[in-house]
Amino acid sequence: MANKVVCIEDNPQNSRLIRKMLGSAGYHVIEAGDGASGHEAVLRERPALILMDVNLPDIDGLELTQRIKANPELQHIPVVALTANAMYGDRERCLAAGCNDYLPKPVTKSMLLSTVASLLGDAAPTVAGS
Ligand code: MN
Repeated sequence: MANKVVCIEDNPQNSRLIRKMLGSAGYHVIEAGDGASGHEAVLRERPALILMDVNLPDIDGLELTQRIKANPELQHIPVVALTANAMYGDRERCLAAGCNDYLPKPVTKSMLLSTVASLLGDAAPTVAGS
């Protein structure tokens, strides 16, 4: 499905917020709370896009990205890194690991929707109710 997104994020509030923001634009979000279940969800669901928290309890999100990008069946799926501590060099680290884009937290609805839409080749979504 072209609107399916796997969100790998261990903070339930962040994950729920992302699901609501993307859901309002018509995306279907599958949530995973750690790297292992996130990897399983990606293998099972074959989403159109992956949102990857860099700080996960069981594995570094960038290491998981490298594993996904090393799998010929998954490497076409765009990965957007989410990082809590926006520091100099974060963007370069994320891109070097194979991420297609990068969003510093807190993620705003307009940034999230425009980034996802551009990676999926969708028309820029209209944000309802704001
Ligand atoms: Mn985290």
